[in-house]
Amino acid sequence: MADITIDESLCTGCGLCASACPDKFDMGDDNLAHVKDCDCDCDMNELAASCPVDAIKVSD
Ligand code: SF4
Repeated sequence: MADITIDESLCTGCGLCASACPDKFDMGDDNLAHVKDCDCDCDMNELAASCPVDAIKVSD
């Protein structure tokens, strides 16, 4: 399963990832996206590509 992380130095807190997949991402009190520990069927590469600042990193 792909490992997904967020580069907090890049995240602008736009909320797109949390809107696209609320099972996998949520927005913290720091206004940054955080990865949640869950198994969902979303395509992580597709989600990563949708981040406008390329803050979502996927590794196998
Ligand atoms: S889509 Fe990218 S910039 Fe927007 S909240 Fe998610 S990780 Fe941050």
